Amino acid sequence: MSLWEIIKRLYPYVRPYRPLVIGTLLLTLVGSLAAQVNPFVLRYTVDTVQGLLNRGLGLAQGADLLLLVSGLLLGKEIVNTFIQFGQKFYGEKIRINVSSDLSQEAVRKILSYQLGFYSDSGNQTGKLQTRIDRGVESLMKLVQNFFIDILPLFANAIVALVVMFTANVYVGLVAVAVMPVYFWLSYRQADRLNGTRRGLRSLREQKSQGLVNLIDSAVVIKSFVREDYEEQKQAGLQAQLQAAQLQTRKLNFLYDGLKTFTEQVGVVLIIILTAYLVLDGQISIGAIMFHILLFNNVSAPIRQLHRIYDEMNDALTYSEGFFDIIDAADAREKPGQLPADNVRGTFEICNVDFTYPSGTQALHDVCLTIEEGKTTALVGLSGAGKSTVINLLCKFYEPDSGKMLLDGKPLADYDTHALRQRIGLVLQKNHIFKGTIEENIRYGVMDASFEQVQHAARQAYLHEQIMDLPKGYESDAQQLSGGQQQRIAIARLFLKNPPIIFLDEPTASLDAIATEQIKNSLEAIKQGRTVVIISHSLAQIVDADCIYVMKQGRMVESGTHEQLYDLRGTYREIFDASARSLNIEKLARVMVDDEDEVGDTAA
Ligand code: ADP
Repeated sequence: MSLWEIIKRLYPYVRPYRPLVIGTLLLTLVGSLAAQVNPFVLRYTVDTVQGLLNRGLGLAQGADLLLLVSGLLLGKEIVNTFIQFGQKFYGEKIRINVSSDLSQEAVRKILSYQLGFYSDSGNQTGKLQTRIDRGVESLMKLVQNFFIDILPLFANAIVALVVMFTANVYVGLVAVAVMPVYFWLSYRQADRLNGTRRGLRSLREQKSQGLVNLIDSAVVIKSFVREDYEEQKQAGLQAQLQAAQLQTRKLNFLYDGLKTFTEQVGVVLIIILTAYLVLDGQISIGAIMFHILLFNNVSAPIRQLHRIYDEMNDALTYSEGFFDIIDAADAREKPGQLPADNVRGTFEICNVDFTYPSGTQALHDVCLTIEEGKTTALVGLSGAGKSTVINLLCKFYEPDSGKMLLDGKPLADYDTHALRQRIGLVLQKNHIFKGTIEENIRYGVMDASFEQVQHAARQAYLHEQIMDLPKGYESDAQQLSGGQQQRIAIARLFLKNPPIIFLDEPTASLDAIATEQIKNSLEAIKQGRTVVIISHSLAQIVDADCIYVMKQGRMVESGTHEQLYDLRGTYREIFDASARSLNIEKLARVMVDDEDEVGDTAA
């Protein structure tokens, strides 16, 4: 992105603050005029004092002058204080407002995108966060530079140059002549620092990432006694960081020195020239001071050039990533028009192919029918594509090809939000938000009463456990055990009370007792609803009205448990393996012995 493009992109965000911008610009103009007062006053003072001395007059006659000069300078400083305050404050106000508008826009856009957007490798949580933060930060530096630094300083410099030229063309020319050298030095400085700064930044990121990893993997490091190895790794990084830091500083000091030298050369040239002109009788002695002060106004902004140049470069680098996020129009979810308020859940899927944005083709020519009011189970080894089917049914992704119908109409046409209101989704691991248990359950229906929340918790066999906690429903939900968190998800489902329910291994991470309880509560909620369940637990599959078996992204078998068992295909393989892993024969023997014993005792 070029600077001009960035400015064009930023304009809509700055537009609402036009009065502020105009006010700030006016203050800038007044400020740059006020900045030229000192040279004029000093020239007048020196010339007048000189005049008094030439006429043999002293302090008594100069008192009025002193009063006048002090009054002028102090008055100007008072005005200047207000101007600077207003200019900085309003500049900052523009910056802060625009920055929060940009951040909010990013949040709004991201929430409207399809899930595929998040799984794109460039958009992983951390990267997205960094891109947004960096983008907003660098764009704001640009705005800040413009309103608080560049504009006032350069306005100041230009006015000072004009004044110098009008006072004396030759002095003006000397001032202008020094500038290219200065510009060139600033450019070189920024350019050379660019490389080292980028290296430095990447090293810093690695270093902080390394520390986070160390903490995350503390148990593994300690159990394998790899403390020394990890320390060495960090030490290597630290050494590189040190070298890069020193190099950056060295370059900065070198160029800063060169720039100060150039500036001083300019000052010396102006002193020589003005002194010559004074001696030659062309200008008054006060003009020496006058021009030196003006030259200071000209060189001050140029001193900042390399920093401004650096920050512009940052803006050019990072704003592109930021605007890419804002502009990802393809990723926006299609809203759909068809009302979904009465859908019951007859899904027909025909010849569906689907590929994830990463390029993994997860479904090949998949066909299945999900009947309203019945329980359909999806079975298959992990990675077979079962969750992907549910992702498509929720409209989280769109299929590459094939037909997907809901109650006879294209799924894609349904109002996405209304459709999702009719669907309840419980996953193997459900997200628990930071907050209390009550807040987390209420996520199902935001305006539910406390009684309704409690009722849902009872249905999910969670209420008793919550009451045992010291803070009850006010306890931190993220501190709960996996099983309890799973029950929160199920309580949310009870509260939402949707006609269609998708369960993706809802009990996979639970112990046997919790599994049984949750199975019971799910049995209760299944009544009269359309249910699709993915599960490795045989108990939850055998009861299904219809079972679909998937293998490597294809639908390979379908039917009831009995039909599939007799088929001796993939389902039977999975079933037998599960039975073996449960050691069912031995369990059965133990149970039979137990029953015999009970029988013998009774006899
Ligand atoms: P299952 O639910 O049967 O275990 P999935 O539907 O989760 O299988 O996955 C099917 C295939 O799609 C796997 O190869 C998996 O690696 C891939 N996959 C799943 N989710 C994503 C994703 N978000 N991005 C890319 N590939 C994915």
